[in-house]
Amino acid sequence: MEKTKCLIVGSGPAGYTAAIYTTRAGIGSVLFEGMQPGGQLTTTTTIENFPGFPDGIDGFQLMDNMRQQAVNVGADVRSGFIKSIDLSKRPFVAKIDGGTEIEADTVIVATGASAKYLGLDDEKKYAGQGVSACATCDGFFYRKKVVAVVGGGDTACEEAAYLSNLCSKVYMIVRKDHLRASAAMQQHVNERENIEILYNTNTVGLFGDNGVEGAHLVRHLGTESEERFDIAIDGFFLAIGHRPNTEFLGGQVVVDDNGYIVTATGSTATSVEGVFAAGDVADPRYRQAIAAAGTGCRAALDAERFLAEQK
Ligand code: NDP
Repeated sequence: MEKTKCLIVGSGPAGYTAAIYTTRAGIGSVLFEGMQPGGQLTTTTTIENFPGFPDGIDGFQLMDNMRQQAVNVGADVRSGFIKSIDLSKRPFVAKIDGGTEIEADTVIVATGASAKYLGLDDEKKYAGQGVSACATCDGFFYRKKVVAVVGGGDTACEEAAYLSNLCSKVYMIVRKDHLRASAAMQQHVNERENIEILYNTNTVGLFGDNGVEGAHLVRHLGTESEERFDIAIDGFFLAIGHRPNTEFLGGQVVVDDNGYIVTATGSTATSVEGVFAAGDVADPRYRQAIAAAGTGCRAALDAERFLAEQK
């Protein structure tokens, strides 16, 4: 069976950075790109908050550059995804989608997280044309415009507050009669005059001939007082949570209440010795490409030190 010193799972900024660092350190590593090579950034448009690109850079291009940089330093980047992995003993054994297996002394999990969507057909129809799941990434394109944020948790409040600095008006579409967010976050939102919270409200569709121009909403859905109405908006932001991509780990690594991998303070070490986590899969708080790249670097250095200690 093939064996590697370091198996890197995932191909976002964390995975590619880990591949660059492990390869340059002389550690034989293999990176599997997964179902969505390049990760979440390949679905965004221009990225203006990744340092080093004064005029911004297209998300797909940025990820292609990272991949190319990894390949140029000699990284072994492969298509395919890891279906499952046995972490009960070292070397770990991973099953690849094609049916083959690979042994690994260390693993860097960099599989990211996927934003949750409502499941409306219109979300797909207007993807990249007014529908976004990242206010920090795309908010800038809605300066002085009207947007809606779906959700009532900390993320929704944070995104609404962020957008309220850029946009003329921000609706929050909240399905319950209260926010789930912490009191501090709620206060943050309540202080903004241009945020209007629509409680007890669900989104049932979007409309617009030229990208999103509005949303079809229902107040008190499924009750006698059900009321349908539309709002005019230019942007529709989902903030109903993220799902870290950890299924292939089969519950062998400790995760928090929201499914994010728990890492030791100040390190990328997980609950399993020799397994490290980088990027959004272990980051419920920042979820930024530059932060993911940073933890990819740290995971590679942690794996390198771990391997050195084993000798
Ligand atoms: P949460 O799960 O906390 O909140 C999700 C929100 O989306 C809830 O209001 C929920 O409604 C709503 N929602 C879920 N599904 C739907 C749906 N299908 N239709 C409409 N609304 C829906 O996720 P967050 O991303 O906000 O937070 C995740 C974790 O990260 C939390 O622990 C949070 O505290 C933390 N966090 C901390 C921050 C900070 O400290 N600065 C910033 C951001 C996040 P309902 O309430 O009805 O279930």
